[in-house]
This record gives sequence, structure tokens and C-alpha cells, in this order.
Amino acid sequence: MSLRSKILTLGFVAILGMFFTLWFQYRSYSTQAQAIETVTRNVKVVGALSQATHELQKERGLTTIKQASTSGQALAEQRSHTDEVLSKLAGTGIRIAGLDDTLGRLRVMAASDTADRFAIRDGYTKLLQTLIDEMGRLTHESDTSVARADVTAHSHLMKAKEYLGRTRATVGYEIGLKRDDPSVINSLIRLKSIYDEEVRMFELAASPELREASAAPLSGNELAKTLHAVTQIVATGKFPQELAAQTWWSLATAAIDRLKSVEDHSLHLIEQKAEGELARSRNAMNLGVVVTLGVGLAAFMLALSTTVTLLRALDRALTSIEHISISQDFSSRLPAQSSDEIGRISRSFNQLLDIAEKLLNEKDFLATTDALTGINNRMRFGIVLDEEAGRKRRNKMPMSLIMFDIDHFKRINDEHGHNTGDEILKALSSLVSKEIRFTDFFCRWGGEEFILLLKDDGCDAAIVAAEKIRSLIEAADFPTVGKVTCSFGVAHWKQDDTEISLVARADKALYESKNEGRNRVRCPQGDWKNCPGGINVPIWEGVVELIETWAWFKSSEHSCVSKAAHKRRKH
Ligand code: GH3
Ligand code: MG
Ligand code: MG
Repeated sequence: MSLRSKILTLGFVAILGMFFTLWFQYRSYSTQAQAIETVTRNVKVVGALSQATHELQKERGLTTIKQASTSGQALAEQRSHTDEVLSKLAGTGIRIAGLDDTLGRLRVMAASDTADRFAIRDGYTKLLQTLIDEMGRLTHESDTSVARADVTAHSHLMKAKEYLGRTRATVGYEIGLKRDDPSVINSLIRLKSIYDEEVRMFELAASPELREASAAPLSGNELAKTLHAVTQIVATGKFPQELAAQTWWSLATAAIDRLKSVEDHSLHLIEQKAEGELARSRNAMNLGVVVTLGVGLAAFMLALSTTVTLLRALDRALTSIEHISISQDFSSRLPAQSSDEIGRISRSFNQLLDIAEKLLNEKDFLATTDALTGINNRMRFGIVLDEEAGRKRRNKMPMSLIMFDIDHFKRINDEHGHNTGDEILKALSSLVSKEIRFTDFFCRWGGEEFILLLKDDGCDAAIVAAEKIRSLIEAADFPTVGKVTCSFGVAHWKQDDTEISLVARADKALYESKNEGRNRVRCPQGDWKNCPGGINVPIWEGVVELIETWAWFKSSEHSCVSKAAHKRRKH
């Protein structure tokens, strides 16, 4: 798998991860939102149930005490109130099994004057318990922490209200009958203590805001008086003669209404908290989506730009490396300005190129340089002559070759030793190197023989140059041995020449020079005659040299010899 594919796969996995995170966030939000919506929906139904319970509690009270004191008119009105809220309850979609039947049956029972009022009261109580249970089920249905404290407090409040409702009915009934039944007193003791316990539990469970809102109603006059009356009855075991049934009813109903107002408030609080929680949850999800998308996008852009930069830099580096390895051009370098890893790799690679270039140059130098004298060797001469010969074949321009050999060098070796011979070779090379032009190519041909290639000069100029070098060597003082002379052969490049034939003619001219007595310049006559000219020396020097050369050539019969020899002859 290429680096590019790996990076792309990584990017794909990262995007997948981002979408999974978003999906996970949405899932958890939607689960929470569903639970909160259930709470909100249930609170509305519980509100309707609470209203129905409230009215049924009143109807139970009025039905129970009817025989004793209340008018049928009040009961009839209450029943129509009850029916009204029950129809509203039906509108919420909630169904309480057997509610209508049971209520109808209880109302029929209550119509009879001989009916057992406690039995009817208990029938209502059972019915009410069904409603209270349903409210409890609905408030605890969704498993959410939303307003949990107030939901628990609300269920205690419902129970407290129910026990106070039962107390209202029982006391009202007994007052109407004007009797002090000990079993009723006992049941009142039980009802009062359960009421107190439920109120205490309510206060314990309620949230601070609900507790604060309920403080005034719970400590209000109506409740205090109602509870005081019950406490009196329980304490004395008698129902007070002066307390009229109607007064009791009004007092207890006002107290229960107070509890109802707290109950309504707690439902309102629960609903408010659920809505607040839903909004918070939605905001958290929106924030989460924005943050995830932002971070994901930023990470994606960063990864993309890094990858593109990396791959481009890698591509550039690879192209350069391929180019270097194909062209063998070890002088080129990779771009290495960046401070990243690619920059480091490029710099290291460039260092390797530096070493390779240095080694190649050294190898090249060693392969093409004469170890003793430090000038070009025969191998380099071969390369240069090939190049120049090719050029001359194309541009038909002149070129000359001077070959020279130290005279009687064997004697120097024999007389002064090999080391001295070596020193002479070095000194002579250095002397000639300083004298020649930049364009001239100078090399050691082998042993004590040297070649000077005049790349753009004709035979006449080459003879001038050879003569100049000859006289330079002759005039120089060499260490240990003093005087040294050389013999020269000059050849001019002809269009039908080969590299070998050119060298051979120069060699032949050198041979002739040796034969004629050494320390002179010789040039084959054919070369001289065919020489097209082209002196590549300063014009004034060239003109003088040419005139002298011409005079000398005129006196020569077979071939050209150096003008120095000509002068010597003249002398
Ligand atoms: P001629 O004038 O005919 O050229 O005589 P010559 O003695 O120079 O020529 P010959 O060919 O007889 O001897 C050349 C000598 O050059 C023989 C060899 O030992 C010596 N020679 C060749 N290469 C070197 C070298 O690198 N160092 C030294 N010291 N001597 C060398
Ligand atoms: Mg020699
Ligand atoms: Mg020789």
C-alpha cells in the first residue's frame, strides 16, 4: 500500500469517526429529548388527573356528609363539575378502567337515603386511589433525572391531599350525625398522622424553589385551623358541638384548595424544568455538532494540506533523485529550504551528493591527472582530442599538436638518480604550464614525453609556440642538472586526419627532430604547406614571428625546422 493510499485511508477513517461522533451525539440527544417530552406530556395529563381527583374528592366529601348536613343542590352542582373535568380528562386520551361505571354506581347508591355512607366514601376512595396511582405511574414513567425531586414531592403532596380529603369527609359526616364514634376517632388519628408524614416527606423531597413556593400555603390559616380542629377532636375524643358541618366543610375545602394550589404549582415547576432541560440538551447538542464539525473540519483541512504538501515535496524529491540517477549529474541539488522532515531528508541527501560529487571529482582527477607532475595524463588527452577532433570536423577550423621529448633524459637518470629525474619532470611541467594559454591543453604523454594541443591554432602559430617553449626550456635553470633541452614535433590537423594519424605525424616530426640533433622544432612539410593559417597569439607578436618563420622556411629545403635552428644555422 503506497503512502498516498495509506493517508487517504486514514482521512476516510477520520471522517467516518467524525460522522459516528455526530450520530452518537444526535442519538443521545434524541433519547434524552424523548424522555423529557414524555415528562412534559405526562405532566399535562397528570394536571388533568389532579383536577379530576380534586373534584372527585369534593364529590366524595359532599356525598358522604349529604345525609348529615348538606343540601342536595350543592352535591348536584359538584357532580356537574366532576363530569366536566372528567370529560376534559377523557380529552387528554387517558383512560381509567371502570371510572365511569364505578362513579355511576356510587352515585346511584348515594341516591338512597338508607345507603351506607362510609361504604360510599370508601368506594370513592378506591376510585380516587386508582387515579392517584395513575398519576404516580405517569410522573415516574420516563426514566429521567428531570425535576426528580419535585416529581417525588408531588406524589407525597397528592397523598397528603387525599388523606386530608378523607379526613374532611369523615369529620363532616360525623359532625352531621352528632355522635362520637371511637372507631371514627381512631381512623382520624391514622389519617392525621399519615397526612403529617406525607407533608413531611413532601417538604423533605421538594426542591428549594417548590419548598419556598409551598411555605405560605402550607402554613396558611385555613390549613392551620383545619388541622387544629382535627387535633382537638383526636385529643378530646369528641366532635365539637359548636362546629357546624357547613363551617367545617368550608374550612377543610379551603385548606384542601390550598394544597391543590401547591400541587398545581409543583406540576408547573416540573413542566418548566422539563422544558428548560430540553432546551439545554438541544443547545448542548447544537454546540457539540458545531464543535465536532469545526474540529473535524479543521483537522481534515490540516491533514489535507499536510498530506498535499508532503506528497508534493516527496514527488519533487523523487523526481530530482530520479533525474540525478539517470543523468548522473551529481552537481545538482534537491530544494531543501523547508524545515520539515522532507527538508531534512533533502538536506541529508544533498550532503550525500556533496560527498559523491567530491569523490567523483577526486576519481576524475586521479584518472585524468598524471600522478607525478600533476598535469593532464594521456587518458584525459584521448578524451579531449576526441572532442576537439569532432568539433574540427564540423567547423573546419585549424588545430595543431606539439609533441616534445626531453633530450638524453636517460643520462640524467643515470647520472643524478631517478629522484632527480622526477624533479626535472615536475619542474619542466610546471614551467610549461605557466607559459601556455588557458585554451591550450597540456599533458604528459608518457615517460619524458609531453603533448601540447593548440585547439584553435594553425601550423605556423604552433611552430611559433613550440619554438617559444623550446627556448624557454633551454633558457631555464633546472635543479641539480642545470640545463635541459627538448626536441619538438608539430603536426597540423587535416580534414582527413584521425586522432591517431595526427599524433603519429607529430611523433614522426619529433623523431626527425631527434635525428637532426635534438633541441629543435620540426614540422612535416605537408602540414606546413596545407596550413590555412590562424595565429592565435597577440597580433604584434604573431606578425614578427610570421616574418621570421617565413624567412626561415624559404631557406629550408625539405621540411620546416624551427626558426631558432634556422638562426643557429645562419650563425
Ligand atoms: P632521447 O634524447 O633520444 O630521447 O634519449 P633519452 O634518454 O631521453 O630517451 P630514452 O628513451 O633512451 O630514455 C628515456 C628514459 O626516461 C628512460 C626512463 O628510465 C626514463 N623515464 C621514463 N619515465 C620516467 C619517470 O617517470 N621518472 C624518471 N626519473 N625517469 C623516467
Ligand atoms: Mg628523451
Ligand atoms: Mg622518449
